[in-house]
Amino acid sequence: MTALPYPALHASHSGIWIADANGTRPIGRGEAIRIAADTPVILLNAALIGQRLGYADLSGLDLLELFAFLCPARFMVPTPRGLARVAGIDAPEEDSAIAPFLRDATDALLGMIEGDDWPEREGAWTAAQSLFRLRWTWAPLLVDRLPKPSVAERWLYTKLPEWSEGAPRPAPRTVSLDADRTQERLAALTGSTAEQRPGQRAYAQAAREAFGPRMTQGAPNMVLAEAGTGIGKTLGYLAPASLWAEQAGGAVWVSTFTKALQRQLGQESARLFPDATVRKTKVVTRKGRENYLCLLNLEDALQGGFAGRAAILAQLVARWAAFTADGDMVGGDLPGWLTTLFRRNGSTALTDRRGECVYAGCPHYRKCFIERAARASADADLVIANHALVMVNAARGREQTTRPTRYVFDEGHHIFDAADAMFSTALTGAETIELRRWVIGPESGGRGRRRGLAARLSDVASYDEAGGRAITDAVVAAHALASDGWLQRLGEGAPFGPVEALLAAVRGLTYARAETEGDAGYGLETELAEPDSTLIEAAAPAAEALDALVRPLVALGRRLEAVLEEGPDWMDGPARARIEGAVASVAWRADTVAAWLSLLTRIGGPASPDFVDWMAVDRVEGRDYDVGLHRHWLDPTRPFAETVLKQAHGVLVTSATLRGGDAGSDEGWDVAEARTGANHLLRGASRFAALSPFDYANQAEVLIVTDVKRGDMAALANAYARLGLASGGGMLGLFTAIRRLRGVHARIADRLAREGLPLYAQHVDPIDTGTLVDIFRDDPAASLLGTDALRDGVDVPGRSLRMVVLEGVPWPKPTVLHAARRMAATGEGGGKGYDDRIVRARMAQAFGRLIRRADDHGMFVLLSSAMPSRLLSAFPPGVSITRVTLDEAVARAAALPSPAQTGQGARATANGEIP
Ligand code: SF4
Repeated sequence: MTALPYPALHASHSGIWIADANGTRPIGRGEAIRIAADTPVILLNAALIGQRLGYADLSGLDLLELFAFLCPARFMVPTPRGLARVAGIDAPEEDSAIAPFLRDATDALLGMIEGDDWPEREGAWTAAQSLFRLRWTWAPLLVDRLPKPSVAERWLYTKLPEWSEGAPRPAPRTVSLDADRTQERLAALTGSTAEQRPGQRAYAQAAREAFGPRMTQGAPNMVLAEAGTGIGKTLGYLAPASLWAEQAGGAVWVSTFTKALQRQLGQESARLFPDATVRKTKVVTRKGRENYLCLLNLEDALQGGFAGRAAILAQLVARWAAFTADGDMVGGDLPGWLTTLFRRNGSTALTDRRGECVYAGCPHYRKCFIERAARASADADLVIANHALVMVNAARGREQTTRPTRYVFDEGHHIFDAADAMFSTALTGAETIELRRWVIGPESGGRGRRRGLAARLSDVASYDEAGGRAITDAVVAAHALASDGWLQRLGEGAPFGPVEALLAAVRGLTYARAETEGDAGYGLETELAEPDSTLIEAAAPAAEALDALVRPLVALGRRLEAVLEEGPDWMDGPARARIEGAVASVAWRADTVAAWLSLLTRIGGPASPDFVDWMAVDRVEGRDYDVGLHRHWLDPTRPFAETVLKQAHGVLVTSATLRGGDAGSDEGWDVAEARTGANHLLRGASRFAALSPFDYANQAEVLIVTDVKRGDMAALANAYARLGLASGGGMLGLFTAIRRLRGVHARIADRLAREGLPLYAQHVDPIDTGTLVDIFRDDPAASLLGTDALRDGVDVPGRSLRMVVLEGVPWPKPTVLHAARRMAATGEGGGKGYDDRIVRARMAQAFGRLIRRADDHGMFVLLSSAMPSRLLSAFPPGVSITRVTLDEAVARAAALPSPAQTGQGARATANGEIP
């Protein structure tokens, strides 16, 4: 038994327990809160336990924080099972055993300090001293146990390695890949004993075409390759891609939409380069700069820029920074749950979100994680990136010298959405206030190093008079943008300045015109047409104000370029790099303001057929959080084709659902071409399709439940509960509306928990989506509810996911943007056909979560009394589709192999009731 004096507390949906030296007992909510307020209690995930107790301020000795200190950059599923694994002790069998287990786990974790094999010892003593001063709850226990090192520990910033600059890489050689060598490479990657799948071989051959020499400028070799789950498309394209990189001496950029696939690709690259040291130079993962830790921001936080809990987080992040592989704070080796524990307090301020990087002017430039990743990718064979980063790099023109020429877009069905987000314009309160801060800097005596344009470019201002004037003018003009407290002023009808006045007019008209409320008060919108006089009158002064801002920004950009050209004495290498960085970020801001201006000219003017414009009030649970005007391309693949495709020499776009989810037919290529931008190229794309090799007829079935009434929340919740109970967990519940997800969760979580079946939910549990999937994957008795992000890209092979339940036909939301695209649809079936294709693609993606391996089995349940037969082609050929009652579906769910049959989790009867 533990010698620690502290009790441990655990709360699940089925009860609350406290364990101390005298044993374990169930307690009530009130008593639990009282104890936690009086005494430090040991717990696992304070945010989650606090939510279950209905006591958001719960704090204590959180074992997740202790783990983050002791084992920075190590993976842990934040559940009792996950904790047991890292602590090397047995996991508790039932909820009531968790509280005493937490005390044992504490002993085991603290025991690490006494061992000789604690790899993360360096820096722990110093960090514990700092955390003690910050009154971190674990610090006294650590300070008592950690011996003072005989030699002073190195400070993080002296420990981190520096990157070095190499000669620019020569342009790739022109090569044609040999078909046999491509097959040999594939065989080497899959392993000589691996089953030689004909589909995969054909796929690799088709992918090879994307790596041939380009014949016409602006016309890349483009291949559209649809490959059903299980074809093995990753190795299928890595074979020609790696061969090309080797023979041509160039880099192939493999772009994904989800972080999960990005991570998976990083792991798969071990087949290409089994030696970890070689792999590190040959394969580099790149993300947007806002994902990485900014060392300058961290230094500022450690030196007093952060207070309270945020300062504790900064110390834990500094511990991690000394051990991380790449400094990626979002989806890298920083546990996703860590920042949630601090309620996102401060974590975003540790990255470079606002583009305030001073590049070579930064004392940590040579150690910067972002710069390191950018440099490493210049020499890599494979760069694993994501669609957003590829588009940002291409559009904003940074890294021109290392511009990629060969791309593989995996999860290619998301190119349209990624381009839609990238090439859009939003003139909203939040966006303008962000720009104001970037130009002016902090205005209310804010702590920290954040500084405005004048401070960042003070050397330019004192050297170049015109540049200095442009900076001053920009700062004066930026005062017309929205400022702190704008939302409140809008609510009170007292906007300040021309931009806030414009936003007030937008808000007024949106409230007046929006016809249907979004999902539970999640947003209001209306098209930008027939503006009223208030809006027209507000637009002119706002446009003047923006014009007064864009001019000095453009002038400043020109002056910066001139200064670079003049190359004055004071401009050493670092200053040059900093000014080059400023040129790029000033140009990006000037472009943004110019786009806002052109959106404003639309008010009262003619609409452009290329764009869809609308006004929106974004809300969360009925409260406004942003207001503004939006502009999207009607077809965002147009700018995508211009900036990315036409500059490339070879592009492979691949996915399991490129053609709108109708895998069994030969049609749909026009959809694939329209959704990927291929139809904007001079030279058409070549096409390849391969059906999944899985035996869907025997591995899966689709049940359409016809007797759950639409709109009846109690009936919907009952259906989820009965199905989840019958299958013994392993259920992924997918929703199109957050409101219904929450409603179902609230009604069924206790019911499942009482039977030992944990239920987790996106938008409910204070846990990030990646961690929710980790938890779900780790526990075959768990079920998970979620929305769009879980419908795509979740890879949970094996028995943890054996049933997908869709709350209804996933029709697209009737937004202004959707209506415009629907009306413009020219493909088969017009607007109706357009909607059908969206639904089929969504259902095909959802179904795709179910069977990930040849030995997976599962059931896909659609709760819909009115599922049109024409949409059923979304499912793979051969899979059985039956319309059934809920009772029948529950009976079949009970027949699925459940954890109970392998000694895990709960047991259920055929009707979903627990005996
Ligand atoms: S170079 Fe920029 S991003 Fe990197 S640490 Fe310095 S300020 Fe931060």
